[in-house]
Amino acid sequence: MSRRPPLRGDELPEILVPPPGPKSRAAARRLRKAEGAAIWGADAPSRSAPGPIVWARAKGSVVLDLDGNRYLDLTSGFGAASLGHASAEVTRAVAAQARRMAQGLGDLHPHAAREKLARRLSALGGPLSKVLFASTGSEAVELALKTAALVTGRRRVVAFEGGYHGQSGLALEVTHFPASLELLHSSGAPRAIHLPFPDLDEAWKRVEGELRGPDPPGAILVEPIQGRAGVIVPPETFLPALASRARAAGLLVIYDEVLTGGGRTGPFWAWERSGPAAEPDLMAVGKGIGGGVAIAALLGKPEIMEVWAKDKLGSGEAPYASTYYAHPLACAGALAALERLTAPDLRADVETKGRALATGLASLVGGRGPGVVARSIGLLAAVEFVEEGASRRPAPDRARAVLRSLLGSGVLAIPGGLGGNAISLLPSLVISREQIDEALSRFAKALDQAGD
Ligand code: PMP
Repeated sequence: MSRRPPLRGDELPEILVPPPGPKSRAAARRLRKAEGAAIWGADAPSRSAPGPIVWARAKGSVVLDLDGNRYLDLTSGFGAASLGHASAEVTRAVAAQARRMAQGLGDLHPHAAREKLARRLSALGGPLSKVLFASTGSEAVELALKTAALVTGRRRVVAFEGGYHGQSGLALEVTHFPASLELLHSSGAPRAIHLPFPDLDEAWKRVEGELRGPDPPGAILVEPIQGRAGVIVPPETFLPALASRARAAGLLVIYDEVLTGGGRTGPFWAWERSGPAAEPDLMAVGKGIGGGVAIAALLGKPEIMEVWAKDKLGSGEAPYASTYYAHPLACAGALAALERLTAPDLRADVETKGRALATGLASLVGGRGPGVVARSIGLLAAVEFVEEGASRRPAPDRARAVLRSLLGSGVLAIPGGLGGNAISLLPSLVISREQIDEALSRFAKALDQAGD
């Protein structure tokens, strides 16, 4: 493998050994032993598993595994490497920052890159001009919920079935420091009331009922487009209707743009598609805005974020911060990524490629019957498998079989959908047209092979 030329990022797949190859399988076994936790695909009989392959290198829209196989990557690392893996801009900025200063002092003495990125995000937030940093999308969502609880004094939250907002959440409840305790006692753990998505009319009666109850909600949290659930795109009127009902009921409006932000769906923020009436009060962002570095943030309207302006630092503990708060490497990488992500030529290119992807997916599933459905917006797409006939029950086995064929032909995609019955496609925003066409043609063959 060391004799191979460096990856360029715009190549097409090349499979030398049927994946997962022996080196990937051996490394996955060692990893399984060290971590103890199940590894996706690794515990299934090897020939039926859709992986895992062990990544050795990644560049642009290309991943190389330990066995020397080259894949076309339609995942961009869960949507985070929005400018492709190891993009020149981000790599250069991170390397330069690493030489200057690689660790800061969180929320105490700020560093220069934090100041620059805060101003950049503040400008990109428009009316949501105040910024707090986080490292993961989950943390940014938590920050949003903490903020809402502090502002409204209410701990409950309206959310939606199929919404994905992350996996963290318990740390605050076991921390025993004055500022954390104040936050916990003023808010408690947020507890969700889940409504069907995106269907407000009937569901809103539940919210009204809860609002009259003893523990009313203070905020509503929604993905403008549901991602992990299988790219569920609500009508453009959904968010304005939701925002106006929420405001009339005194609920804060929080959008989770961790997956959709950064231009993946067309507009820089997905909510902008619905116009100014859809404007939120708070917005969690992450993934793609960093171009592959671990950075996330909460953006919010000044009158709401004001709740953090009071100096709670008497004890030296800010209840939103952490050791890696606004990590210098991440700030530098994100600044470089945002420069590129906001460039008009890139945005126009995403729209053109998004249209090509949508057309390609439509012809991919066309003629295959009602059991295969494709949905996409911009460069966010999913192909979903359901049982034919009236039940339309999820068909996860078919999704898995297609994922396995895709892997075998050198295309990386992510399982998704509420029943594990979808395949999510989140290519980098700089994927080439040729790579999109190649991915679609390999997808068609994978569907044929998997019996669709
Ligand atoms: N919100 C959304 C919409 C997401 O898609 C994700 C991750 N898939 C998260 C939040 C959580 O982000 P993270 O995994 O970075 O904690």
